Amino acid sequence: MENLSDLRVIHSILERHGFRFSKALGQNFLVDATVCPRMAELCGADGNTCVLEIGPGIGVLTSELAQRAKKVVAVELDRRLLPVLNETLADFGNVKIVHGDVLELDLAALLRAEFGGDPVVVCANLPYYITTPILMRLLESGLPFEAITVMVQKEVADRLTARPGGKNAGAITVTVDYYAKAQKLFGVSKGAFTPSPKVDSAVIRLTRRAAPPVEVNDPQAFFRLVKAAFAQRRKTAVNSVSATLGIPKPVVADALVACGLDVNVRAEALSTEALAALYRALGGAV
Ligand code: SAM
Repeated sequence: MENLSDLRVIHSILERHGFRFSKALGQNFLVDATVCPRMAELCGADGNTCVLEIGPGIGVLTSELAQRAKKVVAVELDRRLLPVLNETLADFGNVKIVHGDVLELDLAALLRAEFGGDPVVVCANLPYYITTPILMRLLESGLPFEAITVMVQKEVADRLTARPGGKNAGAITVTVDYYAKAQKLFGVSKGAFTPSPKVDSAVIRLTRRAAPPVEVNDPQAFFRLVKAAFAQRRKTAVNSVSATLGIPKPVVADALVACGLDVNVRAEALSTEALAALYRALGGAV
């Protein structure tokens, strides 16, 4: 098997197939030989576990996953890569490439058809232009992914793995925290890719929680409140929530006080529990 993280090999394969990188599809392929084995080791792939990969590119991570997992299904949107993948992954009988958009595919049906009831993890070097929609789709799907190990932009990794209630936290931190425990695994420099992106990256792992850390009757409404609280970061939470959701300021202020919170608190100082308490105190207003 060819070394798929060798720059010369990559360019020779891609040239043979007349392939040109698409910036619009977030195509930055890994050329650091150490990254994919590490991701594949850390994602939980083993002889009993199946892997869903998103965006296999030319298959550099896919081949590492295939060597460890029971089965790998890799979803690739760019049709031009299908003949490339047929060639680079020809040695593996446990890999299936699915052509499609991960944001559109029926993931439940895919998992049922390909993995039966086997344990499933996600492992991917994500296309950065849709990192958040992909993660939200995976988390909100309710599908039993045991863990999601993904490469994302470093600053997104910092945000996703921040402590809710800490200074790097954002709406996405709290939303992800509702579904999973987020952990940063290791950093990857921009030089590890071709073409090289503008920013460094990091690999993070989201481990699904058995149950949410807070009780809210309507998670989507709760996330709306969280988003509204962070919408105007320079303002206090009361001003940001009131301006974004159109709830009168005194109503929000009273709800904060009822939760024992400072009326001048900023969203980033609110833990997931505090935001859930505020949500409950606002009743049906959100
Ligand atoms: N896994 C390869 C690697 O690490 O070298 C490629 C990673 S590259 C950052 C992202 C990949 O996702 C590209 O192959 C791109 O074509 C694919 N992609 C982009 N948008 C997609 C989508 N909506 N659904 C599935 N794959 C997508």
